[in-house]
Amino acid sequence: MKIVIVGGVAAGMSAAARARRLDESAEIVVLERGEHVSFAGCGLPYHVGGEIGSADALLVQTPASLQAALRLDVRTRHNVVGLDADARTVRVRTPDGEQAIGYDALVLAPGAQAVLGFDSPRVRTLRTVPDAVTIRGWVDAGARRAVVLGAGFIGLEAAEQLAAAGVAVDLVERADHVLPPLEPELAILVREELTRLGVTVHESTSATAVTPAESGADRDVVVLSDGARLEADLVVLSVGVRPDTAVFAAAGVATERGAIVVDEHGHTNLPHVWAAGDAIVSTDAVTGARRPVPLAGPANRAGRLVADAILRPETARPIPAAVGTAVVRVGRLAAGLTGANRESLVRAGISHHTLHLHPTQHAGWFPGATQVHLVVHVGQDGRLLGGQAVGADGVDKRLDVLATAIRAGLGAEDLIDLDLAYAPPFGAAKDPINLAGMVAGNVLDGTLRLWHAADLDEVMASALVLDVRSRQEFATGSIPGSLNIPHTELRERLEEVREAAAGRPVRVTCQSGVRAHIAHRVLTHAGFDSASLSGGMLTLRAAL
Ligand code: FAD
Repeated sequence: MKIVIVGGVAAGMSAAARARRLDESAEIVVLERGEHVSFAGCGLPYHVGGEIGSADALLVQTPASLQAALRLDVRTRHNVVGLDADARTVRVRTPDGEQAIGYDALVLAPGAQAVLGFDSPRVRTLRTVPDAVTIRGWVDAGARRAVVLGAGFIGLEAAEQLAAAGVAVDLVERADHVLPPLEPELAILVREELTRLGVTVHESTSATAVTPAESGADRDVVVLSDGARLEADLVVLSVGVRPDTAVFAAAGVATERGAIVVDEHGHTNLPHVWAAGDAIVSTDAVTGARRPVPLAGPANRAGRLVADAILRPETARPIPAAVGTAVVRVGRLAAGLTGANRESLVRAGISHHTLHLHPTQHAGWFPGATQVHLVVHVGQDGRLLGGQAVGADGVDKRLDVLATAIRAGLGAEDLIDLDLAYAPPFGAAKDPINLAGMVAGNVLDGTLRLWHAADLDEVMASALVLDVRSRQEFATGSIPGSLNIPHTELRERLEEVREAAAGRPVRVTCQSGVRAHIAHRVLTHAGFDSASLSGGMLTLRAAL
C-alpha cells in the first residue's frame, strides 16, 4: 500500500503518523510545498512578540525525526501541481524539476491560504514560520508602528504580541466589533483590554489602500475607509483564509465554495482520494450549516480518522460534525466560544433564548476572584446551542465543559447536574456552568422571564424600569426614568411599585441579573407582569 499525503502539517502529518502506527509495511510519502513540516502554526504569533524566543521551538518535527521515528518519507519543497485520478498519480514540482508520483491512496491536506489584498514589501500574512521570522526580524530591526488588518483570532494574537514588543499597533476590523464571532456584548470587553494594552482599535472600518509613505522613509501609509491614514513600518494581513484547493478542484475533486466535499470518513468524490483539515467542508453540529472550520484540533483528529478510513475501513469512526471551539488570549483576558453564536442561529432560523451571567471563576470569598462573563444560547426545546466566555481566569475550563456538553448532546438543564471539580481556588459549589443550567431551567419552565438589552427602547417606552441595586450603585448610573428600590426593601414597598407602574409591566434590572431574578419572583408572586434584565447593567452597558 502506497499512501501519498499532500500537506505536511496538522491534518496531513496526523494522517501520516496514524497510518504508520496502523501499518508497518505501508509506503508513506508526505509532499509539502513549504520548507517545514509539522510546525506549530498556532505558535507563530508568539514568536513575533518574542514570547517564543527561538523559531526552532515552532518546529515540532523535522523530516529526519519523522523518518527516524515513523519511517515517513517526508519531502519538503514538493509542490503538488496536478492530480490524475484515473492514473492515480500526482504531479509534483520540486527544485529539481517535475515528476509524477503514483499512489494507492491519496490524502489531500493542503490547508488554507491567507486571503491577500495589498502589495507591498512591508505587508505580510502570518501563516508560516518564515512569515513569523520575517515579522519578528522587522520588530528587531526597529519597527515602531504596525497596522494589523483583521481582528479575528490571528489578528488579535498578532496585535497583542506586537504591542507587548513595544510596537504601536493600529488594529483594523471591517465588522462592527473585534473578534466578530463573539457576541458584541462580550467583544467590548476584548476591545477595552486591547485599548489597555495600547492598541488603537478601528471598528466598522477597512483598509482601502496601502501606499509607500510620501516621506520616502521605509514605511507605508494604510488608508482606511473612514479616511484615516495610518503610517506603518509593517502591516500584518489577517483578514481570513480560504481553502487551498484550486489544483485539486481543477482535477475533478468536488468542492463547495472552494472547500473539498467529503463524506463522513473524509472520502472525496474521486476513488482512492481522501481529504481532511482546513481544506474541507464541515457540517456544523448545531446549525447544520456547511462551512470549513479552520481549527487545529479538528484538523489533527480528522487526519487521524482518515488514516483509519484508509487502513481499517470496517471499524473507522466517522469524522464528527464540527462544534467549533476557539479561544484566544488578549493581554489579561481570555475570550472564546463554542457551538453556535447568535448570528448563525438567526441565519439557520433556530429560535432560542440567550442567557447572560457574570459569576466569579471561583468562590467569590476566596482571594483572587474575578468574573467570567458568559453568554449561553439555549433552544426553545432546551437544547444547548452555544456558549461564549470572557474573563481573566477560568474561561477555557467553562468553554471546554460547554463544548463537551454540546458534543454529548446534553440539554441546557443537564448542566445543573454536572459534578465539576471544586475547591475554593478552582471553582464554586455552584460552578458558573451549573448556574448557567439553573438559569436555563428557570427560563425554560417560566420561573424566570428575561428581557434583553436590545429591548431597551421599547421597555423605556412601555414599562416601568425597576432598578433593585443599592442606592450607591444606582447613583453610579441608571436607565433614565427607572425607579430604585433595593431588592431587600421590595417586599415592603410593593405599593410604590404598583403606583409607579400605573398598570404598565415592570422590567427589573440589577448589576448582573441575580438580584433582579429575586425581585422578579417577588413581583410575580404579587401579581405583576414582570421580567428580569438578562445579565443586568453589566450586559446592558456592554451592549449599548
Ligand atoms: P495547514 O496546517 O495549513 O497545512 C497545510 C500544508 O499543506 C501547508 O504547509 C501547505 O504548504 C501545504 N500545501 C498546500 N497545498 C499544497 C500543495 N499543492 N502541495 C504541497 N503542499 C501543499 N487553530 C486553533 O485551533 N487554535 C489556535 O490557536 C490557532 N492559531 C493559529 C495561529 C496562526 C497564526 C495560524 C496561521 C493558524 C492558527 N490556527 C489555530 C489554525 C490551525 O493552524 C489550522 O487549523 C491547522 O493548521 C490546519 O491544518 P491543515 O493540516 O488542514 O492545514
